[in-house]
Amino acid sequence: MTVVESTLVADAASTARRQATTAAGSPRQDPQPAQMKALVYHGPGRKAWEDHARPVVVEATDAIVRVTKTTICGTDLHILKGDLPSCVPGRILGHEGVGVVDSVGAAVTAFKAGDRVLISCVSACGKCAYCRRGMFSHCETGGWILGNTIDGTQAEFVRIPHADTSLYPIPPGADEEALVMLSDILPTGFECGVLNGKVQPGNTVAIVGSGPIGLAALLTSQFYSPAEIIMIDLDDGRLEVARRFGATASINSTDGKAAEAVMKLTGGRGVDTAVEAVGIPATFELCEEIVAPGGVIANIGVHGVQVALHLERLWDRNISITTRLVDTVSTPMLLNIVKAKRIDPTRLITHRFKLSQILEAYETFGHAAETKALKVILEA
Ligand code: ZN
Ligand code: ZN
Repeated sequence: MTVVESTLVADAASTARRQATTAAGSPRQDPQPAQMKALVYHGPGRKAWEDHARPVVVEATDAIVRVTKTTICGTDLHILKGDLPSCVPGRILGHEGVGVVDSVGAAVTAFKAGDRVLISCVSACGKCAYCRRGMFSHCETGGWILGNTIDGTQAEFVRIPHADTSLYPIPPGADEEALVMLSDILPTGFECGVLNGKVQPGNTVAIVGSGPIGLAALLTSQFYSPAEIIMIDLDDGRLEVARRFGATASINSTDGKAAEAVMKLTGGRGVDTAVEAVGIPATFELCEEIVAPGGVIANIGVHGVQVALHLERLWDRNISITTRLVDTVSTPMLLNIVKAKRIDPTRLITHRFKLSQILEAYETFGHAAETKALKVILEA
């Protein structure tokens, strides 16, 4: 029997079943898919907390996770500004969170219903050429897809593809709020800022942007004992937080003279590592101005518009510029560090809401200068 014939037979059978039901005098429609609430992107500047079909296992390697805690990322604000055309209207946002496995596909072997899990912002098949190089962010059937090209975690349930290699078991007794910081911001600050930026003992580091990602880079750069960590931001409140988190100096760049201030602090040399943690032309160009000969500009920011590359000044300065989407290869190490209480990522959490209050949480997170918000926790 060919596939087409078998489909026809199946159709005929289902028609017969429907007719039989009708004949029995109880006409009914096919059962509706189970519903849930989710934060749905409806194009630039538009979002809604609304009813949505609950996700179901599509591939045998999928898991469905009931989200217990999630958060909002600066990247979600970039999407809402219209900076990321890959994310189309109708998409559920969010790529961070922890939860409980609700169901798994037949090929999932590492997790079962009831397991508490950390959701990685990057999904990885573990088998393609990029995954075999540890570059999970460019997995041929994964990468950063959650809340981007497939539905994300700002919902009551989420479908996680390649569950075996994209979820992490939550160790017993772990602080789940701390682990929400491990879905994205800690590995991002560490891999894209600290590792790519080649932070070394005794070196000088500047981090442009003292938001959650910049602060995650600040916390994780201290694994390597740099001599100086200079934080730069427009907001004095965030700079004060940075000093509490270990910054040795802070510069408010509102006056447009941050580069001069960095040069003064570094005896005119500039910094060995300049981490860009905002994603706008002004902050990247500031990194170009303050990087020392032989230094690295490590970009983390999500850029929506063209940025000027000043090779007329930089061509002879032996510098490197790195870009990266987080691979989350450092997540197991960061889990150990957090478990050992060597860093406490809950210090980044400023606000807590119920998941159903997510629109209010977006307002709070989106007006961080007034609300002093860093990371918000949304609890189901
Ligand atoms: Zn993010
Ligand atoms: Zn892959």
